[in-house]
Amino acid sequence: MAESTFDVVLIGAGSVGIPAAMSLAEAGLDVLVLDQAASPGQGSHKAAIGGVRATHSQPAKIQLCRRSLEIFSTWQATRGDDIQWTSGGYVFVAYREREARSLRELLSEQQDLGLSIRWLDAIDLLALVPGLNPEGLLGGTYSAEDGHCSTLLAGHAMAEAARRAGAIFRFGERVTGIASSGGRVTGVQTMSASYAAPNVINVAGAWARDVGKLVGENHAVHPDSHEAGITEPVAPFLQPLIVDVRPAAGSANCYFCQLADGQVIFCLTPDPPFPGFDCRETSAFLPQIAQRMIALMPRLASLRVRRTWRGLYPMTPDGAPLIGWSPQTEGYLAAIGMCGQGFMLGPGLGELLARMVVQSSLSGWDEQILKALSPYRSFGHVEALK
Ligand SMILES: Cc1cc2nc3c(=O)[nH]c(=O)nc-3n(C[C@H](O)[C@H](O)[C@H](O)COP(=O)(O)OP(=O)(O)OC[C@H]3O[C@@H](n4cnc5c(N)ncnc54)[C@H](O)[C@@H]3O)c2cc1C
Repeated sequence: MAESTFDVVLIGAGSVGIPAAMSLAEAGLDVLVLDQAASPGQGSHKAAIGGVRATHSQPAKIQLCRRSLEIFSTWQATRGDDIQWTSGGYVFVAYREREARSLRELLSEQQDLGLSIRWLDAIDLLALVPGLNPEGLLGGTYSAEDGHCSTLLAGHAMAEAARRAGAIFRFGERVTGIASSGGRVTGVQTMSASYAAPNVINVAGAWARDVGKLVGENHAVHPDSHEAGITEPVAPFLQPLIVDVRPAAGSANCYFCQLADGQVIFCLTPDPPFPGFDCRETSAFLPQIAQRMIALMPRLASLRVRRTWRGLYPMTPDGAPLIGWSPQTEGYLAAIGMCGQGFMLGPGLGELLARMVVQSSLSGWDEQILKALSPYRSFGHVEALK
């Protein structure tokens, strides 16, 4: 193999590109990962708070995230690195009938798909999460197998695993061209080099639309920004990741959990959204989320916040990813539009991408996932838990 020829080039070393590089290299392929940033995970990946759940409303995402959960939760036992996995579960709280109803409506389908999720009434929920404000609490869903881990440690561990399997990472290289001949991908160009490969995977996150344009695709991926923050570490008091989907002034929902090291990490979905690439922190975020979190869990009032940041969700019109080969340019594969769930989708999706590239026979579930998440679908149905 000439030094600049690979079986597959991944454009992006983020939540999807890193585990995909690992799975592709472990499948025996020569893999090159190119990223415009200086090191892995510098796009949206490092902004994520590390929540991992299989409890979605869409079967395709449920299947991908179930596999991701297996990979994250067994990582230390099977691979040795501590990624601070915590099997605390997810709790979606309900203080109003409308949230109680919509969460309960999803339960039977989620249970039919094998998810361990159930409804807890207010008394049982307070036993599980003693600090929750009991006033008006109707109950909530609890999915015990979900959890969270450190995005930084997990990304680092997977990038190292990819390297050990032979994947090559090149940083500070922005892809500026995708070469093709006779309707087939032949490689990529960056600002400083050219690389030949019969397979090119767009895993460029919030920047995926621009990358797609390099082969004449017009992917429906648009960034919007979300803020997050982290407190000082305190003694363990909170097991599950808490999600409150009630809208409030300036936000559509909020979610938070306590990391293995004791810090509380938190985030909200702004309403109206902030479209675009601006990642400067706002002065509105902290007062907004502090009010929400303290109303939900009064004991949080004494926590000191250490840092806030703002990162990008690569959004799609229906809240579900876009995954599939291009029908017009053979060898070009998109795995983009992860919205607020790219970290949790990444490892399961990485394995699916490897099966697609090595052309091993795809399972019935793989086929269903690819049909549901086709980049060329119509965007009628909106995912309930996006
Ligand atoms: C505040 C916040 C909290 C979140 N919390 C969670 C959570 O708890 N759980 C969860 O699952 N998700 C969460 N997310 C969402 C998650 O971060 C994203 O869905 C995910 O990181 C997207 O992964 P990606 O690989 O598609 O993109 P990225 O991780 O952004 O990777 C894309 C990479 O492509 C590179 N790139 C782009 N264009 C080019 C080019 N032309 N040439 C070379 N390189 C290029 C970029 O530099 C980048 O490194 C959160 C996001 C935010 C902002």
